[in-house]
Amino acid sequence: MAGARWVCLDVGETLIDETRVWSAWADELGFTRLTFMAAFGVGIERGGQHSDVFGIVDRPDWRDHRPQVEAAYGGFRESDLYPDVRRCLDALRAAGYRVAIIGNQPAERTAELRALGIEADVIAMSDEMGVAKPDPAFFRRALELMGSPTASDVAYVGDRIDNDIAPAAAAGMRAVWLRRGPWAILPRQVPEVTALVVDSLDELATRVGECWR
Ligand SMILES: [Mg+2]
Repeated sequence: MAGARWVCLDVGETLIDETRVWSAWADELGFTRLTFMAAFGVGIERGGQHSDVFGIVDRPDWRDHRPQVEAAYGGFRESDLYPDVRRCLDALRAAGYRVAIIGNQPAERTAELRALGIEADVIAMSDEMGVAKPDPAFFRRALELMGSPTASDVAYVGDRIDNDIAPAAAAGMRAVWLRRGPWAILPRQVPEVTALVVDSLDELATRVGECWR
């Protein structure tokens, strides 16, 4: 239908529990998982990016270990999906929303989500788009992939204020902050640009309409 509203979802810690991939990194680099996750948290607290953990644990050689980690991880599995994902996607479609899944991930994650039976009108990952959040070009490209709807007809749902909420709002989208995962436990202000704050995708499914009130 013309003028349909879209719900565009981030991937990591929005759809996918990333505990297993970071555990694979800990195992490969020879740290206990507790130690590695603690270092990961330090990076988050400092306001940095995922890869900051490697500097904190002093492993500048981390890129050399990518193939082994990817082999151990083996891509997304059913058990990596947060349990509310399928319910939410079904509910959003039943309510007439078009659904996109566009996040910062390796290119192969698109096929892995499809292989798990995750259905969406658009699925695309930053590595195949050639641009990543929080670059404004990521959100411009995401709109193009959705068929260029009006930006304000798109709700972008993510777990990070710096990577998801602030840049999606700057792009003119309705920014929905999903408070879960490691970024959700930091004490901080909810920025005014947030259209909606939810604690689960079940809550999103019932409240997403509030983005346009
Ligand atoms: Mg995320």
